[in-house]
Amino acid sequence: MNFEDYKGVLVFIEQRDNIIENVSLELLGKGKDIANELGEDLIAVLLGSDNEDLAKKVSMYGANRVVYVDNKNLDIYTTEPYAQALTEIIKKENPDVVLIGATSIGRDLAPRVSARLKTGLTADCTKLEVSEDRQLMMTRPAFGGNIMATIACPDNRPQMSTVRPGVMKRPLKDEENLSLIQKVDIKFNESKFKVKVLEVTKETKEKINIEDADVLVSGGRGIGHKDAFIKLEELAGVLKGTVSSSRAVVDAGWLDHDRQVGQTGKTVRPNVYFALGISGAIQHMAGMEESECIIAINKDASAPIFDIADIGIVGDVHKIVPHLIDEIENA
Ligand code: FAD
Repeated sequence: MNFEDYKGVLVFIEQRDNIIENVSLELLGKGKDIANELGEDLIAVLLGSDNEDLAKKVSMYGANRVVYVDNKNLDIYTTEPYAQALTEIIKKENPDVVLIGATSIGRDLAPRVSARLKTGLTADCTKLEVSEDRQLMMTRPAFGGNIMATIACPDNRPQMSTVRPGVMKRPLKDEENLSLIQKVDIKFNESKFKVKVLEVTKETKEKINIEDADVLVSGGRGIGHKDAFIKLEELAGVLKGTVSSSRAVVDAGWLDHDRQVGQTGKTVRPNVYFALGISGAIQHMAGMEESECIIAINKDASAPIFDIADIGIVGDVHKIVPHLIDEIENA
């Protein structure tokens, strides 16, 4: 294997109903940095159907080239056609690096593709860096989040990684960016597909996307009980924010799992993160420590959350939050 033959950083663009998943845009931002460091091109790969307009939209986020497949078999995600299409494109492009979002789709797709390419995959990364000898250093939490492991792929190419949503910064849209847009045809043998989607039933429950919120008001076990979250909703309301939580709250059944921040929940980086009655366990901090401004309220002055807080208030959350709401409303 001659590593010189592998060039480019390839980002898989995940879409659902022809709406791009945020993590794919975040990866275009990080992918551009890596491509610049390696002196290589950034290639975005979009799979789906009726997606010519979407390919143009993708081109506004910094890729040198957008390669897309428009095929009815790729309308809704299923493993086989997606794994086949992405593997074929990677074999043709021979990229140095392949980045995929660590979403439910990415976690299903990436290992299949890496196995077909006979290369390694570092799953669930939270940090990507290029070393002095041009290797991709991929960092991820390991042993229950107690250590951060940095993994390289020195003997194979491409170097593949899935990356957690919300960890990397999303690039700004640039309508002037001129990517080369290339349509590629893939031949599928439908008779060999083992899975067929017969019907799609969408969840009627309102979708909470804490990853997109500018302000998160996050509550922990210290909030005490489910009903006390009404005050946190009120605070989030005056700040045009969203309520999120620690795992202890989800485990207690006070909020749904889609609100959970942390290693086994979502990774978020809002402008403001309120940590209310949250101790600051390593698994929680792994999901929110990149927030621009962290405001912690805890009655225990030695709580670890204060180590990473920009503003820390030692006191009872039930007394401080109503004052905060009043002050903001009267400001
Ligand atoms: P606690 O640790 O019990 O902290 C409650 C805090 O509230 C205390 O600091 C206390 O001083 C304070 N408090 C109490 N009353 C008040 C009051 N009236 N006013 C102000 N402060 C008050 N956790 C996550 O959050 N997200 C994850 O994704 C996650 N994944 C995990 C994965 C693994 C493999 C493991 C082993 C654990 C994981 N955890 C996760 C759990 C994590 O270790 C902690 O148990 C959890 O984060 C604790 O939640 P907490 O801070 O709400 O509760």
